[in-house]
Amino acid sequence: MIHSIIENVKITPHSGHLASYIPALANQSKDLFAACLVDERGEILSFGDANYSFTLQSISKVMSFIVAAEHLGLEKILEKVDVEPTGDPFNSIVRLEVAEKGKPFNPMINAGAITVASLLPGDDVEARVNSVKQYLAQITGHEHTVNEEVYRSELETAYRNRAIANYLKANDYLEGTVEEALETYLQLCSLEVNTEDLAKFGLFLASDGLIAGENKNLITHKTAQFSKALMMTCGLYNASGKYAATIGIPMKSGVSGGVLCAVRNGEIEHLRGYIGIAVFSPMIDEIGNSVKGMIFLKQLSDQYHLSVF
Ligand code: GLN
Repeated sequence: MIHSIIENVKITPHSGHLASYIPALANQSKDLFAACLVDERGEILSFGDANYSFTLQSISKVMSFIVAAEHLGLEKILEKVDVEPTGDPFNSIVRLEVAEKGKPFNPMINAGAITVASLLPGDDVEARVNSVKQYLAQITGHEHTVNEEVYRSELETAYRNRAIANYLKANDYLEGTVEEALETYLQLCSLEVNTEDLAKFGLFLASDGLIAGENKNLITHKTAQFSKALMMTCGLYNASGKYAATIGIPMKSGVSGGVLCAVRNGEIEHLRGYIGIAVFSPMIDEIGNSVKGMIFLKQLSDQYHLSVF
């Protein structure tokens, strides 16, 4: 049955656009499509270009939040960033002038993620980026590298993100320098993964931090709980409410076209229990979510009753 969902999605005409505001992402083929599902017993279902690597973009916000929260403790992080949805675009600056002055609303938008990037363990950009790389490698089982072309391309055109970082710094919501925070954040956005890696990460979150073959949780229950709540309420930018209602799974998207999902208790074909799901298709809508990715997830959730509500 999942095969018919995949076929439906594949024959759906393209709509949306590539994330050409990051010049290097304008070159992706719009026909790419991949999906991967993995359960707690290691059963895998994978479709399309499952080994195709793409950059994490905003999906990295979940990983950074986890590493920073585990390093400093959740309370310390929450002094610097809230957990409230904004209803605004991911790169919006407007809320930094309202409510508690300068405090970013949540770690899933650029403002909050730039603050979190500045709080990662390490004395310089390389060490902070490495802290997340190492975490990710433990979960996926291999090293991840920064796509230099994407990173350079974004750094050169980061006018808005630089403005946000300056604003954060002016109000004492950034450790270190503006450039360090920006470079850390953008290198994390440029880390490469494929859908199998992301599905494993989804499984890790679904199980509150279990790693295959080990029987201890790598993160605290609270960090996992906050991460998934943030994904559900803020993970799809200003469409998060709509997708919480229509799909009902903690998810996080990135403008390169990936979506990460954590299913707590599912039954999808021969997969059972905790299930990590990842989908990738680079054409995104106005808000920044993968068009075909979201069509796939909506049909999957309907078909297999995956909504938590
Ligand atoms: N690197 C991108 C940016 O900062 C990430 C945005 C996204 O995936 N929504 O604009």
